[in-house]
This record gives sequence, structure tokens and C-alpha cells, in this order.
Amino acid sequence: MLAAPLAGCGGEAPGDAAVRRPNIVLYVVDTVRADRLGVYGYGKPTSPRLDAFAEEAVLFENAYAQSSWTRPAVASLFTGLLPPAHRTVGRRSVLPEDATTLAEILAVHGYEGMGLVRNPNVGRAFGFAQGFSRFRSEDRERDETMLDRVRLWLDERQGAEEPFFLFLHAIDPHGPYDPAPEFEEMFEAGGAPAHYRTVRYLLGLNRGDVEPGPETAGALSRLYDAEVAQNDRAFGELLDELEARGLVEDTAVIYLSDHGEEFAEHGRWEHGLSLYEEVLRVPLVMRLPGVPPRRVEEPAQHVDVLPTLLAYLGIEAPPTDGRDLLAPRRRGDAPLDVYTHLDVDGHRAASVIRGPYKLVLPQSPSHGTAPMLFDLDADPGELKDVAADRPDIVERMLALLAERNLAGEIVSAKEIEDDQLDEDVRRRLRALGYVD
Ligand SMILES: [Zn+2]
Repeated sequence: MLAAPLAGCGGEAPGDAAVRRPNIVLYVVDTVRADRLGVYGYGKPTSPRLDAFAEEAVLFENAYAQSSWTRPAVASLFTGLLPPAHRTVGRRSVLPEDATTLAEILAVHGYEGMGLVRNPNVGRAFGFAQGFSRFRSEDRERDETMLDRVRLWLDERQGAEEPFFLFLHAIDPHGPYDPAPEFEEMFEAGGAPAHYRTVRYLLGLNRGDVEPGPETAGALSRLYDAEVAQNDRAFGELLDELEARGLVEDTAVIYLSDHGEEFAEHGRWEHGLSLYEEVLRVPLVMRLPGVPPRRVEEPAQHVDVLPTLLAYLGIEAPPTDGRDLLAPRRRGDAPLDVYTHLDVDGHRAASVIRGPYKLVLPQSPSHGTAPMLFDLDADPGELKDVAADRPDIVERMLALLAERNLAGEIVSAKEIEDDQLDEDVRRRLRALGYVD
């Protein structure tokens, strides 16, 4: 919720009348690991459209998700706040009405907001429709056909004075991995057994009900790559549509993912179970009219997107836990720490990254409670816990987590009980592997 501006007419905040701000497309793809995209160094052709797009954009090489599953990650994206501040962390958590979201801020400044989401975890029932004048949550078609909705909406608002804010949350790469045949063929994924394409199998792997074979990780990876490529085509078609409508020059397009995915690098599958790099490193690529393309090495995180975008638009941002990623760094600026948090289905952990060091503090029986320390420069795969060798660093980094209220439990701001969710939402959550 956000109060209306004090003055101004026609729903505009003071100072808005003088400028026609660019449209905004925020394109979130569920479950895309940065390292599975060409422009992030992957060797297979999963992302030709994104790769070309990135040549005209600002690409953040070291972008992090704030959590390893959808709801808290997108809550951080929408509010610029870390999990202890938005308190939307668990399976029943709802983004509270008093949260100030990007869509609400943009609405106050004259934007017309449309949200189209394919993952019910960020649907209306969980508070994510705040600030959008139109919001749809559905799963009936694949991501390519999200575009049909977008086309209809753009047709409808043809000639509209106010700029638009279009938020799309695509789902293809999320499990179950069941790509269209042409993509399966492209990535030689067709040989995988039929049950590899089911949610039940992925859940069974994580529960230990089924044993993976030596070929399992490779076969699931190929299916996943095929889905990443399938979504890339959908993203490309969206870009083509903007171009065909002559909207490229005055539309900012931001491409990112909510979290990554595990393929047993540390013994687990899917996501939402750990805070290893494979579930945290996400793509973040922004094509902003007037901003020259470049690659940025400094770390970026979900909470930075809101302040960056508002600074670009010349709109004052509320206090956040993020920073303007395009502002030049000054001597004496705070260190670029990355904070992440997970608390779902009995898996609780938090992490902080400063320089080459990453400290993970597990906080649940499933993961123990001993802090783990990794040197990401020397050991990017996080295979060697060096906590015992560097107690000084462990102590300093534990203090950072405590300062940010990440060392203990976060109580949800608001919750919804399963029986309050309508059957359609519950069915769709189950289809993605989220069990009641
Ligand atoms: Zn997700």
C-alpha cells in the first residue's frame, strides 16, 4: 500500500508532468541459473536472443538472488528489502499490504501496471498484485503464449498517454522439465526416461525415495537446458513485438531470474533447499534507453533493482536495503555485501558474501547449525569448508548476519492458511511440486 501523492493533478506526483517517462518491462524467468546462459559463459546455445539483447544492455556478471525460491526472492525484487524487512519468507507467507512495492510507486507516478504471472507463488493470493491495475495469474499455456495476452493488452491501450509497467513472470525452466520436442532434440534430451519429466520424480530424488543413476544429473540438465532455450525464444518474441510496435526507443527492459537450480552439485535437486551458488547466481540484464551497454563485475542483488530503476526514472525511492547499481562508486561507500536467506519447509539458512568469502549459517536440523566458510575465488564450487582455518573471518561474518537480523527466525508479516487458497491455486502449486 502506498499513499497517493499530496499534490498534482491527473494522478501524477509533483514534477511528473514535465517528463514522459519510458515504459518498463520487467521480465522474470523462474529458475534460470546464470551459468546456463551463453552470455554468462555457457557453451550450449540456450540463449541466442538474450545474448544479442545483452549487447545493447548493462549486464551484471555477479548478480544474486535474495533467496533460493520464488516468493521471498520476488518480494525482495518488488520492495528492495531483505527478507527480515519484508518478512515474506515461508510457504504460507503473504507480502503484507503495508509493503511499498515497485508497482505501487510507479502507479503513483502515472504508470499503468500489468502483471502476468505463471507461478502462483507470486499470485494475487500471496499479495503480489499490489499496485497493478491489471494482474493475471494463470498456467494454461506455455510461456510463448504469454505474448498473446501482452499483445491484446498493448492493442487495448494503444494511444494511452501514460507509460506502462509490464511485469512478466515466466515459468518454463521450473520443474517439471518437459520441453517441446524441437528443443528436446536440439539439446539431445530426448533419451531421458519419461518419468524424468515429472514433479513426482524430482520430489522423490530430494526425499531419497529414489536413487539417482550415474546419468540422472546429465539427463535432467539437458531437459532443463531445453526449457531455458524454449523460454529464450519466448523472450525474443516479446522483444520482436516491442520492435514491431516501435516501442524499443522508449521502453526499458529488465531481464532476470528469481533463483537458480541444483543438479546434485551438493547432493540436492531443484531449489529452495540450500544457499549454494547454483541456486543464487542469476542473470540480471537491463536495456535502458540512453544508458550505454557494458558489463559490470561488482556484485548486484535483487534488492538493488528497485532503487536502480527508480533512480534511472528520476523518481525518489523509499528507504531500501539496495543501491543504485548505475551510480558511480565513491571512496568510503559501504562494502558490497550480498545477503541471502531461506526458511521454507523446515530448511532455514542465511548467508553473507564479502569479497571472496561466503559464510553460510545453517539454522535447521536438516542442515545442522555450524557455520560454513567458502573462499569463492579459490573454490567456486564450494566444496571445501574453511571455517576451522579462519575463525576470525567466521566471527566477523556472523556479526554481519546478526546486524542484518539474519541469524535467527524471521516471523512472517502475514500468513494465509492452505484452506483459504482456492482450489485452482492449490492445484497449480502441486503441479510445480509444492505440496499441501
Ligand atoms: Zn522460482
